[in-house]
Amino acid sequence: MSIDRRTLVKGLIAVSIAGGGLLAYSPVLNKIVRPKYEFTEVEPDPQIGDNVRYIYTTCLGCNVRCGIRVRVVNYNGVDIIERIEGNPYIHTTEPSRWRSRP
Ligand code: SF4
Repeated sequence: MSIDRRTLVKGLIAVSIAGGGLLAYSPVLNKIVRPKYEFTEVEPDPQIGDNVRYIYTTCLGCNVRCGIRVRVVNYNGVDIIERIEGNPYIHTTEPSRWRSRP
C-alpha cells in the first residue's frame, strides 16, 4: 500500500484540525468527563420584610389581561421591581386550569 504525497498532506491537515479542535474544547471536555460540583451559597431573594411589598394588578401586555403579582423592594428609598409573576389568587392563572381536560 502506497500513500501519495497529496493524501499524506490531506491526512496531516485533517489530523491537525482535529487536534486543534480537541485542544480548543479540552476545558469543555474536561468538565464533561470530570465534572466538579461546587456549592455556592446564594442569598435568597428578599420576599418578606419592611422594605418588601406586593402589588396585585393586571398585565396589559396583550388582550388576555392576566393577573400578576409584582414584588417591589425598597432599597435606600428607591423602589425596585424585583419580580413579576402570575397572581396565584386569580382563577385564570390558577395552575389547575392549565391541566388538559379528559
Ligand atoms: S402575561 Fe397575560 S396579559 Fe400579559 S402579555 Fe402575557 S398573556 Fe398577555
